[in-house]
Amino acid sequence: MIDDPDGYADVIDGVDGHGLVGAVERLVAIPSLGGTDAEVDAQDAVAHEWASLGLEVTSWDIDVASLAAEPDFPGMEVDRTAARGVIARIPGTGEGPTLLLLGHTDVVPPGDRGAWSSDPFRPEVRGDRLIGRGACDMKAGTASITYAARALFASGVRLRGDVVLAAVSGEEDGGLGTYAMLRQGITADACVLPEPTSLDLVPANGGALTFRLRIHGRATHASRRTEGVSAVEKMLPVLEELRRLEARRNETVDPLMQRWPIAYPLSIGTVHSGDWASTVPDLLIAEGRLGVALGETPAQARADLEGALARLCDEDPWFAEHPVEVEWWGGQFASGRTDPEHPVVRGLGEVATTILGNAPEVYAAPYGSDLRLLVGAGIPTVHFGPGESSAAHAPAEWVDLRETVACAQVLAAYAMRFCGTST
Ligand SMILES: [Zn+2]
Repeated sequence: MIDDPDGYADVIDGVDGHGLVGAVERLVAIPSLGGTDAEVDAQDAVAHEWASLGLEVTSWDIDVASLAAEPDFPGMEVDRTAARGVIARIPGTGEGPTLLLLGHTDVVPPGDRGAWSSDPFRPEVRGDRLIGRGACDMKAGTASITYAARALFASGVRLRGDVVLAAVSGEEDGGLGTYAMLRQGITADACVLPEPTSLDLVPANGGALTFRLRIHGRATHASRRTEGVSAVEKMLPVLEELRRLEARRNETVDPLMQRWPIAYPLSIGTVHSGDWASTVPDLLIAEGRLGVALGETPAQARADLEGALARLCDEDPWFAEHPVEVEWWGGQFASGRTDPEHPVVRGLGEVATTILGNAPEVYAAPYGSDLRLLVGAGIPTVHFGPGESSAAHAPAEWVDLRETVACAQVLAAYAMRFCGTST
């Protein structure tokens, strides 16, 4: 770089792309599914990488049971007894603001292995792509934090404010790790989460509330089915009501959300009913996910769904006597929003434009993430990371390695801009 008015050239050149790809591969090879021992292994692996940079690493055992009993606990959908918190700090001179770079190391299950052309936990590099479960969501992003820190270190730049690196687990099923980190009193003036955004800026996201419906019927022998009430058939008016509710909740949406076909989806993910083929089933249990709008509280969203079902139950004689029961369980992600004009969004956008050569788009994402916990704790937060969000949770998950390296470069340069440098 000949023209270097911002002084970023050293840290940009200092990002070791080859090393970064290796770090993504090592992380993807750890099958850190939520609720397994490997979740802790992945946290330990990141702690080890950070310690090897010469950073002071703090790692602690999270008391999962006592946090889960707290009223603000964000929820958990897997059995988990152990979790590890990991942070590291690049100390500044104490004269500037603190930037938090946070990544999660847990992944979702690979799904149907037949839909993968390779072993989900044996990362494969094909051209500019790395394929494996968690490559995109978000082990490439987490590794890019490590390599941004490495480049900052190697450049010898003296930052005025601290850079705090955090690795968390339990993100996919509620946000245990970030909740635990915040409960440790760790804070910052702004946070960048390198979740997959294809290097666009995502300063807000919709929330997601997991629910369970119990739809009651009356069992009888299938040969006399008209004398019973099938819980499966009673699911149909419930589904229709949920579709109407979803349409109504998406009539007007925040401008940041307008790029999505459905900003706030309402979807049923599991359905279980019946225990015998020739019995009319008396119970159907369906689990699903309700999107929470920007600016809407989870309580408002819950009341909206409960209200819609209550009206349905008023109109239907069977439901009037056997109302559909709603239970809220598991992940309860509020929506979260950082003002797109906030300096962390604008500043990161300017640095990214300088380095990438084109300006990132700014929009909100329809999925929940740790952003809402951080924003809720008063830390303005933006997603900016490698990978397309459509590849996340999908078979043959992949990440673009050029984006991964560019992300590390932007994060390193942005840390200089945000924290300030001292000569
Ligand atoms: Zn993620």
